[in-house]
Amino acid sequence: MPIQQSFGRSLERNCTVRLFWPAIVVLLQVLALPQLVYGQQVEAERYLLDNVRVIVGDGSILESGALMIEGGRITAVGLRSEIESGLGVEVIDLSGKTIMPALIDSHAHLGYEGHTSWGAENYSRENLIDHLQRYAYYGFSAVFSAGSDPDALAYQVQQAQLAGEFPSARFLFAAGMAPPGQGPNDQFLTHAVALEQQTGQRILYGVDSVEQAIDSVREIAAKNISVIKIWVDDRGGSQQKLAPQLYRAIADEAAENGIEIYAHQQYAEDMPDLLEAGVSGFLHGRIGAGLGLEIAQQLTEANAFVVPNMGLGELRREAIGVDEFLRASLPASVSARLGESGQRLLKANREEAREAELRTSFGHLLDANVDIVLGTDAGAVPDHFFGYTGHRELEIFVRLGMTPMQAIIAATSKPAQRLGLDDLGLLQPGYSADLVVLDENPLNDIRNTRSISSVFLNGKILDRAGLAAHFTQ
Ligand SMILES: [Zn+2]
Repeated sequence: MPIQQSFGRSLERNCTVRLFWPAIVVLLQVLALPQLVYGQQVEAERYLLDNVRVIVGDGSILESGALMIEGGRITAVGLRSEIESGLGVEVIDLSGKTIMPALIDSHAHLGYEGHTSWGAENYSRENLIDHLQRYAYYGFSAVFSAGSDPDALAYQVQQAQLAGEFPSARFLFAAGMAPPGQGPNDQFLTHAVALEQQTGQRILYGVDSVEQAIDSVREIAAKNISVIKIWVDDRGGSQQKLAPQLYRAIADEAAENGIEIYAHQQYAEDMPDLLEAGVSGFLHGRIGAGLGLEIAQQLTEANAFVVPNMGLGELRREAIGVDEFLRASLPASVSARLGESGQRLLKANREEAREAELRTSFGHLLDANVDIVLGTDAGAVPDHFFGYTGHRELEIFVRLGMTPMQAIIAATSKPAQRLGLDDLGLLQPGYSADLVVLDENPLNDIRNTRSISSVFLNGKILDRAGLAAHFTQ
């Protein structure tokens, strides 16, 4: 039976792939594509990461732990004293190091970034794989691309990744919906429309009547796409804002079809009515004066998630080109462009009043116990980098009031739950062995998520050095 796969999310339906996984790995080794194979392959079928601090992803921690991996899955996690290594188990001593679940980015736009240019002309299977591998390099196990991908091509790449054709973060995507010929910001819109013409595939669904809303949702359901991203934003007057009666019709029909709605909304004040309509979550927090405790409580009551998405503006002010963590994955010419300049400073200025406003608003989300999920909008504009920006966003979370542990939860188990990634986001038996080995403890300083010693995806060590060599060419 063919694998029935949802376009937008990978669900349990991927089991068939897992059964064939060993055969696929062997095949890949025979093919030996240089940038595509996993790195220093651990030869044993079973191995034990021993003597290591384990951050589970649910808020718990094992200071002197061990984790057993068999055939790509975690089969045991516990204190060292509780876990038997046994015969035929390769033991990897990780004393002094910390392991945590690989990260997940719940808001990005893959395919358009070309590093020397940005746009539809860069979108290709090869570029999608490059972006997914950048995520993997930075310790990510999955990324959700929010309503900007040509569906058939995105689906092919998603399936190829799941089948093990190349090691990378998993790829999730959505259909986009807005009034006809609208949605993304004006620059992005031009390129999304061009890409639809270029590929003959669908990205955006234009809706200006209830009937059209229902028909479009059914069309998306027939394609097995499990998430619709809606834009409710007039883009400063250059577009038309999706009307409430239309997003309600979209949400009602989506609920009938088991499809979730993720919203891009213009203002925090748009959130209550969108919650009423039944959206699952918000891809921009609009953290600030508009987002007070009352809306925060409504978010929790409706069980909606929020991607605060605060780093996009800040990166424009920072001299990120001199940051070694980013430089390691960019050609030198691109880093040079991003170095210190009139606009980009080593120590970016932050206006005190604005910072206090952000802290207060973010504090309301924390006080109301809202499900905060990591997302970056990476790739939506030029020079907003994949993976790297996720680590920056975690720093912002902590700067504005989260503990490092809360930030890690927001980047691992929360997004996994929200995106339907049932085997990611936790270091627990039965989960896929997708994890990051860190030299330093991120609970002491969240910036230590950058101290990546190695990345495991599907129980295999990623060849980060090989990928970096490829990225910096
Ligand atoms: Zn976006």
